[in-house]
Amino acid sequence: MSRNRMPGSSLRWRFTLGFIILQLITIVASLGLVLYIATLGSPGGAVPSAWLRLEVASSVVVSEDGQATIKATPGLEAMMKEWPALWFVVRLQDGSMLTNGSVPSDIAANFDFLSSFRSVELRGYVDTPDRQGTVDKMETEAGTVIIFAGGVSWSLYQLTFVAGQVAIGVPALILTIITVLGVPWVTKWSLGSLDKLTERLGRIDFKARGTSVDARGLPKELVNVVKDINLVLGRLDAGFEQTERFFVNAAHELRTPIAILQVRADTLPPSEEKLHIQRGVKRLTAITNQLLDIEKYRQTLPPPQAFDLTKVAAKVVADLAPVAIAEGYDISFETEVSEALIEGEPEAMERALANLLRNAIQYGGERGNLAVHVEADGSVIVADQGIGIPKELLPRIFEPFYRVNPHGSGAGLGLSMVNEIVERHRGFIEIESSPGQGSTFALRWRKAPLTKPVNQVRWMDESIIR
Ligand code: ADP
Repeated sequence: MSRNRMPGSSLRWRFTLGFIILQLITIVASLGLVLYIATLGSPGGAVPSAWLRLEVASSVVVSEDGQATIKATPGLEAMMKEWPALWFVVRLQDGSMLTNGSVPSDIAANFDFLSSFRSVELRGYVDTPDRQGTVDKMETEAGTVIIFAGGVSWSLYQLTFVAGQVAIGVPALILTIITVLGVPWVTKWSLGSLDKLTERLGRIDFKARGTSVDARGLPKELVNVVKDINLVLGRLDAGFEQTERFFVNAAHELRTPIAILQVRADTLPPSEEKLHIQRGVKRLTAITNQLLDIEKYRQTLPPPQAFDLTKVAAKVVADLAPVAIAEGYDISFETEVSEALIEGEPEAMERALANLLRNAIQYGGERGNLAVHVEADGSVIVADQGIGIPKELLPRIFEPFYRVNPHGSGAGLGLSMVNEIVERHRGFIEIESSPGQGSTFALRWRKAPLTKPVNQVRWMDESIIR
């Protein structure tokens, strides 16, 4: 299964993007709402700068001669440049005052009265900066002083914007950083179970019966999906079983009438017709036998075990050598390894190799050599020098009931079964064939068998052909 790495199609990416977009919408909406409410209450309203008094307090220093004086901080200097109407008065403990800018006279006239408060804020409107001011008792280098300051005003709109930026913007920024870094991690963590499920689904052998997906350790939502998958698998199983039972029953039912037909045909007086009937009956017998063979294999799948391919191949050659020799062939068995261990069903493999060799005998043109060869990597080759198969028909010969020559006696089921068995052993079949020259069927394995080398190539000898 190939994984699509395009960010748009990754769930993790979608989650992250979704979260960020939602957050941005929330931030913009909150800011807008706060601004709206702030300006709604007091259109054109303004407040004195909260920073000015702090800058003034920091600017009060005590000089070398012990006198309190003003040494403007860079912040105060910048504000003075920006706001020409800026003013402030610092009333020291001894009652003396340090003054800067033009103090509005009506405010100055009330200094004594205003000094009696700990903190006063005079608010005006945006277009009257001199109507803003603060009065505060503050700690400075020169001790506790009273600072009167004004001329710098912020519209409520501005203030809310700045306050909003600080109050909403900072958490929003932190939240966005956490989202960008955290959401992919969180989604990876929560979607991990999806990977787990994909991996379990990948391990399902859809050809095997009675398989189900393990739901243990999966979250509730996926357990429901797994339940549905298992339900479908169960139904498929039941369907397959029904079909198989039908075929087996049909094959069984056919056997008796075919046997009777054969006996009857054999008793007919010799004629062309008798030969036709006998050939037909032979084919019917082959088909029913092969159907039963396939079903027997499918239904009695033993647990897989390790077995030696060289031994199985040697046994098949030994079993069929007398038939091959009787049909006029030379037969050879050759192995480049003394052992090739593979996991699976030795009896099924024997049936598959026997089928290939029987085909070689049948389609080998009754001449030349039939060779069975186990290669160094454990591949098993069955080769003949017979009629061959046209290239364009090669893809079809594994189809059930397909025969290159429909008049032959075979059922067309052998190679389909061989293919199934080889696939079950995680292998595949390679064919090289040219009409009139012969065919080579090579069984290759995706997981290499465990092989033991031999120093000498072992040729088929009398001890193997019994
Ligand atoms: P069948 O029972 O007809 O042999 P198979 O499934 O074993 O059925 O093979 C399908 C067809 O492939 C055969 O009918 C035959 O035409 C062709 N075939 C199989 N093996 C060989 C071979 N070794 N040489 C030539 N043709 C072959």
